Amino acid sequence: MIRELEDRAWMTEAIAEARKAEQIGEVPIGAVIVRDNEIIGRGYNLRETNLDPTAHAEMVAIRDATERIGAWRLLDCTLYVTLEPCPMCAGAIVQSRVKRVVYGTTDPKAGCAGTLMNLLQEPRFNHETELTSGILQEECASLLTQFFRRLRER
Ligand SMILES: [Zn+2]
Repeated sequence: MIRELEDRAWMTEAIAEARKAEQIGEVPIGAVIVRDNEIIGRGYNLRETNLDPTAHAEMVAIRDATERIGAWRLLDCTLYVTLEPCPMCAGAIVQSRVKRVVYGTTDPKAGCAGTLMNLLQEPRFNHETELTSGILQEECASLLTQFFRRLRER
């Protein structure tokens, strides 16, 4: 119960990151990385801005966190992201040894944390994460549906 309240609070921070993406016309997806009750990495989708297909919110947050702590391993870290990670981000999460992943809403077209497959909990890999989904799901999903609705209306 307490953990769910904490998860909701950190997901609110990830949503704030997603809104930064929205403000510059990017698909609104945001992420934060938390260790010892402190945000050590933040990121939002920058694919269009950077013309970089790897500039997903999770990748940006992982780079931010590893730079800040001066290590590539994100042991004892929880990554919060508004949308279920894609295969690339799930791979980077495993590579960086993130302990736990919490995501808001599922991605039926690319989700690799349980929807299409589950790369975060693949026993043949050398690392598996803990996983929680559905935290502030409606808010995370409506960010995306409203963004695409506005895009179609334009
Ligand atoms: Zn991704």
